Amino acid sequence: MVLAKSDNNGPLTPISEGTPVPDSPSGSAFRASSNGKRRPYHFSTQCVTVENPAQKDQYGSSSVPIYQTATFKGMGGEYDYTRSGNPTRSHLEHHVAKISSAAHAFVVSSGMAALDVITRLLKPGDEVVAGDDLYGGTNRLLTYLKNNGGITVHHVDTTDAPSVVPYLRAGKTAMVLLESPTNPLLKVVDIERICASVRQHAPDALVVVDNTMMSPYLQRPLEHGADLVYDSGTKYLSGHHDLMAGVVVCDRDDVAQRIAFTINAVGNALSPFDSFLLLRGIKTMAIRMDRQQSSAQRVATFLDSLGFRTFYPGLPGHPGKDIHERHASGYGAVLSFVTGDKALSERIVGATRLWGISVSFGAVNSLISMPCLMSHASIDAATRASRGLPEDLIRLCVGIEDPADLLEDLECALLQAGAISSVELPSSGQRRLTRVRPDDGTGLIGMAVEKINLGEQDVEKREWFVSAPGKVILFGEHAVVHGVTAIAAAVNLRCFGLTTPREDGKLALYLPDLGGYEETWSLDELPWDVLEPLPEGEAHGPVLDEKLVAAIVETLKAHCATKTSQAAAVAFLYLYMMMARGDTKPTFSFTARSNMPISAGLGSSAAYSTCISSALLLLHRRITIPTEPAPTAAPNGKQPAHVHISHNGRVAIPKPTADEINAWAFISEKVLHGNPSGIDNSVAVYGGALAYTRPGFERKAGLDPLNGFKSVRFLLVNSKIPRDTKSLVAGVGKRKAEEPDVINPILDAIQNISDEARRALEDPELPRQTLISGLEALIDENHEHLVSLGVSHPALEVIRAKTASAPYNLHTKLTGAGGGGCAVTLVPDQFSDEALQQLVAELREDGFDAYTTTVGGSGLGVFSPRSGEDGENVSTGGGDEGMRVPLRSQFLDKDVLELAEWVEDRGRWLYV
Ligand code: PLP
Repeated sequence: MVLAKSDNNGPLTPISEGTPVPDSPSGSAFRASSNGKRRPYHFSTQCVTVENPAQKDQYGSSSVPIYQTATFKGMGGEYDYTRSGNPTRSHLEHHVAKISSAAHAFVVSSGMAALDVITRLLKPGDEVVAGDDLYGGTNRLLTYLKNNGGITVHHVDTTDAPSVVPYLRAGKTAMVLLESPTNPLLKVVDIERICASVRQHAPDALVVVDNTMMSPYLQRPLEHGADLVYDSGTKYLSGHHDLMAGVVVCDRDDVAQRIAFTINAVGNALSPFDSFLLLRGIKTMAIRMDRQQSSAQRVATFLDSLGFRTFYPGLPGHPGKDIHERHASGYGAVLSFVTGDKALSERIVGATRLWGISVSFGAVNSLISMPCLMSHASIDAATRASRGLPEDLIRLCVGIEDPADLLEDLECALLQAGAISSVELPSSGQRRLTRVRPDDGTGLIGMAVEKINLGEQDVEKREWFVSAPGKVILFGEHAVVHGVTAIAAAVNLRCFGLTTPREDGKLALYLPDLGGYEETWSLDELPWDVLEPLPEGEAHGPVLDEKLVAAIVETLKAHCATKTSQAAAVAFLYLYMMMARGDTKPTFSFTARSNMPISAGLGSSAAYSTCISSALLLLHRRITIPTEPAPTAAPNGKQPAHVHISHNGRVAIPKPTADEINAWAFISEKVLHGNPSGIDNSVAVYGGALAYTRPGFERKAGLDPLNGFKSVRFLLVNSKIPRDTKSLVAGVGKRKAEEPDVINPILDAIQNISDEARRALEDPELPRQTLISGLEALIDENHEHLVSLGVSHPALEVIRAKTASAPYNLHTKLTGAGGGGCAVTLVPDQFSDEALQQLVAELREDGFDAYTTTVGGSGLGVFSPRSGEDGENVSTGGGDEGMRVPLRSQFLDKDVLELAEWVEDRGRWLYV
């Protein structure tokens, strides 16, 4: 856009009404037709015809000259200072506006500079709704604005248009930021539909589209309702990777005016030389992209035909193909695929010759990269996993080389890396390429290990270890009962279970940490006559079979036990009987141990429920667990792919299996507690952290995993004061009814705390120190509110005072129901181990139990030792005649403090 000359610091006004498409033939946008009417030139023609009737060159130069000057002489001329305006740049902006069908265009120093200029339209307090699969740099800038500019950013899956609607708030939402297709997974956003929703629910919000993956040639989002579109001109527009540039286009004059002001104010307009280069690049854009995308289609089809999961909207069956075709006239030249094995992907990338290993895309040369190691390496592994970004993903950006050469080079690399093999067909002598499937891969995280059905005999003959974490409520306890969101996270105090096969037709339960409970039942002792078996293929409904529960309780009466261990046995037998199918009933001993305090509000029962559910589902053959694949050392000698972030195991239990386990764990929780919320068992199964909102209130109910949650150290202190959760909860309810004006604002404040904590914990780019100090402040605030609700206890206040005192200066709140139970203390990263040990010792002296833990770690884990791994199978004799127990005696003998390490050292665990 040409800006009014004037002093460089003063306000700027456009001297023309933007850069409209000229309507004279010499304006190069229209051609004559046989009926005498003007019709627009085709896009590729428009690309090469760079003419601006308002800016005729004095010598008739055929290429726009570079006005390599900072200043212009004289007064009252069209240009005075290149930051404000430069003829080379004006030509380029006019040209970009024309090919983008936009009223206004601006060119700046990079794609990120374009977004920077756009986001300066925001003011503190504004809300932005943005995709959850954005270009990393975009994420970084939004995070900066969130932390420093008072902007609230909601990351939403914009590829699911309805999920955007709840975040659109009239008067609050100022911007909706979209990218389609996304990079590198090529997911498609329904731009038109989201624009319509924005108009309806937040009419003042600007819809901004990052169009870099498509360029104006293939997609012009202004035509589909967007207000602002920007491109990294570094990519297709330039096409040669020899400059950085950003482009912003819009139709609204008021918005254009503000953008022009910002560019002049901050001084990030594109330099004259780069403007010249970009103009030159654009002339060949259409022809380059035609070639690039036809080759991309061939490459995608080739990979797809070999059986690699390939992401490219041009492939039949791509989930967003129809929507994409409504918005764009081509599929672009970026595609990606997975191999099922990160090391294999690395070998493929390393074996290509023609495909250059490089970030970026859009240039004439073809590029290959592994986003998780390159463009997306700045996002931590957990966040990448939570966004479904496979670690073994290879991205291909197709250039203009001869497609035959590109395909041949790729084929050679796939062969050399061992991803495919070539077989000569005896009949025709022709070669056939076949994919070599890696032992452990179907290609996606969560499915990264192929399910191998264990042999008929094998499941019952093996021993199985299972383990699940307890939980801590970080924010929102009590308030959660009244519809406020609670944040809960897994702790690394766990329940461990071991199944040991029995050959005597009996079933046994050993709970050494629960008063030494030990019971053995012969199968025909159980009340099978009252069982109404679940029909094949049907899930357990929401209601317990109370008749069966009562019959089991009756059966157990003969055996003496504490209330807690009796309840644990009822849950175990209820699940065992409900899962049984026909006459094939497994017989085994189940031994559970736990290194967390029981009945202290740390979710020990949910961890136990999760352990029995997984063990029973496994032995009843209702789930299969992937076998531990043979370790494949990466070329660099490092551990193979998919190492779990919190434990030395693999993320390998597929989501559907975890869901099944969770459903049964919830049933077990019902047997144990009557009416559980479901939060404890979900944390025990999925690990990490969750935000939970109860149904039946104004706020949207649900259980959302916190994506990208980072582990944080905590000290858990058990006051050892028994409490009555029911009456504590009832007390708050009574006060809410009697003093709503006092209690409701407290509940609202706690909701704000949960929201704030959630935002901080999910933010992949929040500096660690900011996260920790922010959480400390929220801990103090939340505790004060819990005190006001009347649920603290003098013992908890003693713990709080001790941890807050010098030299510790730590922040503590009660967790769970209060009235005793546990307190949680945040331990900052730099807090020394010695100081922590000292604090633990002092707390013990005061009569409390203290446990150091990290939160946000692994959920359910399963592991079956390979036979012989732990020495010879031995028969212990004694009370276990006929039972081979290679591990159980060691498991039972371990001191509770050594338990976790010993169990994890037995072999490589598979985690959810
Ligand atoms: N948007 C997308 C989709 C990108 O891929 C990139 C760069 O890779 C950008 C924006 C930022 O552009 P630039 O690198 O020119 O600042």
